[in-house]
Amino acid sequence: MDEFMQAAIEEAKQSKKEGGIPIGSVLVKDGKILGRGHNKRVQEGDPVTHAEIDCLRNAGRIGSYKGTILYSTLMPCYLCAGAVVQFGIKKVIAGESETFSGAKEFMESHGVEVIDLNSQECKQMMTQFIQENPKLWNEDIGNN
Ligand SMILES: [Zn+2]
Repeated sequence: MDEFMQAAIEEAKQSKKEGGIPIGSVLVKDGKILGRGHNKRVQEGDPVTHAEIDCLRNAGRIGSYKGTILYSTLMPCYLCAGAVVQFGIKKVIAGESETFSGAKEFMESHGVEVIDLNSQECKQMMTQFIQENPKLWNEDIGNN
């Protein structure tokens, strides 16, 4: 497993430990992590703090996003994909897209390279969470 995806998974696990939704993200450039974060909908009562948004926020003002890669344990949704396109992040690596298909085509249509690792660990983490918390999950993806 990619060490950066492993870091994103650690963030997801941290969120679950906090009673939140287990999705984590890291922003990488030149082999270094610039920022990391996780979904905080539950922790902060904040519907827009998805893992990727928290990660970008924690990375701070980095200036140019040229050469950065955004990792997420789950395929980014339209909200996060919008941030990716807006900031000019050209590469996204997702843990999986089976439990949630996200906005892969949207990002690709804007010239973003999207890689889906199809990770069993990521899939299992989300599947278990969705089974245990269907209402919370549907709220997070705006499906209710
Ligand atoms: Zn999102």
